[in-house]
Amino acid sequence: MNRALLAALLISAAPAIAQQSVAKMPAPVIADPQIERLRDNALANDHYAWDVVEGLTTEVGQRLAATEAEARARDWAVKRLTAMGFANVHVEPFTMPVWTRGAESAEIVSPFPQKLTVAALGYSGSTGPEGVTGQIAYFPTVDALRAAPDSAVAGKIVFIDHHMMPAQDGSGYGQFGAPRRQGPTIASLKGAIGIVIRSIGTDHHRNPHTGVQYFTDGAKPIPAGALSVPDAEQLIRILERGRPVTMHLTLVSQKSDGGHSGNVIAEVPGRDPKAPVILVGGHLDSWDLATGAIDDGAGVAITTAAAKHIMDAGRPARTIRIVWFGAEEPGGFGGKAYADAHGKEPHAIAAESDFGADRIWRFSSKLKDSDPAAYAKLAAALAPLGITRNDKGDADGTDVEPTIAAGAPWISLNQDGTRYFDWHHTPDDTLDKIDPAQLRQNVAAWTTMLAVLSGGIESGAKRPKRR
Ligand SMILES: [Zn+2]
Repeated sequence: MNRALLAALLISAAPAIAQQSVAKMPAPVIADPQIERLRDNALANDHYAWDVVEGLTTEVGQRLAATEAEARARDWAVKRLTAMGFANVHVEPFTMPVWTRGAESAEIVSPFPQKLTVAALGYSGSTGPEGVTGQIAYFPTVDALRAAPDSAVAGKIVFIDHHMMPAQDGSGYGQFGAPRRQGPTIASLKGAIGIVIRSIGTDHHRNPHTGVQYFTDGAKPIPAGALSVPDAEQLIRILERGRPVTMHLTLVSQKSDGGHSGNVIAEVPGRDPKAPVILVGGHLDSWDLATGAIDDGAGVAITTAAAKHIMDAGRPARTIRIVWFGAEEPGGFGGKAYADAHGKEPHAIAAESDFGADRIWRFSSKLKDSDPAAYAKLAAALAPLGITRNDKGDADGTDVEPTIAAGAPWISLNQDGTRYFDWHHTPDDTLDKIDPAQLRQNVAAWTTMLAVLSGGIESGAKRPKRR
């Protein structure tokens, strides 16, 4: 647009703008100095989150759901939360099926013999130690597999490709996760002897990305694995040579019922025991390939650190409840167990951090409709952290979903996911991927959210007696 035209437009629009500014401008939100102090202190000085995620990933390491490692993680969590001064620290146990990984390998037998890197997907069937050998049936998408006649698949090893790209909001995961979530069941129902997918990831490391899938609709479990992205691209080049491709696939795994997991719960008790509680948390379990620093050591660390900053400042009117959910990765078992036990209790808000440790860039909340004044206050208090409001966002967090479904209002503090799917569910999910400055920004945002929704923090107020 040229300047003269722009000037003309501005002049003609001026009366309308002036009118709107009187009639439609929202009331200004006056900053609360206590909230600003809490926010700015967390941003500059938080060390609680780093201490938690560094401690958990170093002293426990991988924490696969319903295994002995996850039990050690619960013990670690109880000790740490107690040492930090939280009240009502306890474990709420539940049972679930347990799946564990064994030996795994993939190799092209013909026409160009070579090894590829592969990792079994959760609840994969087992090939047994001898493995299976079959011709590759290639499909560019999960829909192409769905449309294929059984005869194109039966007795073969299915390979599904896709093309996930990095995105700040991580939105590709929903669509491009379909080969992992649905591919194994469809392949099994069509008679395949196994399936490999291109990893649901945005990197080019030679690391496969694991993740959960379930066999539904009566499909019998077949071996199901993910090739690393470079290996999937290698397999495509081999297929493009136009000759039949044979793969030998070994995925040994075990599944049994009666595994034990649990949620670790701690609280900052509020002054008003009748006020609906604020629920925040992340998940304690991780996949077994790495130490689960970004998924989701960071999430439990961020939310716990934020609650600790509130506790350090005094007593909130509302109780803040922190949950380190068990067994999220194999299917959100902890979130369901929490909702079964507590879903009917009144919740002021339910929120989870489970998207890494990079900077929060926007937020959305049910409060936009249910409590517009709180929403405006949140928007104003978060803005200095570079966080914008997203009036059209959705609830997220697998673990809080069942509680939200039971009626709890929600808030989503969205982290920048541009790098997240480079490391997600791979051997690269380790502590060095966490940037301490961005981690502090997360803690500052969560501290701000808790402070705004706390109902007011009384400094020096006595904590209730332990019963
Ligand atoms: Zn997670």
